[in-house]
Amino acid sequence: MTCSRCGAEFDVAKVRRKYEKEFDGLEYDWDFPSNDVCFECAECEARSNISEGIDVLSMKRGGFYDSDN
Ligand SMILES: [Zn+2]
Repeated sequence: MTCSRCGAEFDVAKVRRKYEKEFDGLEYDWDFPSNDVCFECAECEARSNISEGIDVLSMKRGGFYDSDN
């Protein structure tokens, strides 16, 4: 398989296994249903999704709460 993003050759089965080991709870087939993304690009995207999630969380935590009680 050739990565649709960077053009690298990769083995989907290996990338799937590595991805799911690296990102516990994520599924390669779910995140990349076309199976055309190499590990480096998949990892990059997963990390940016994770950091967006963290940003959302910290925004919620840093938001203004009426905590006078
Ligand atoms: Zn790639």
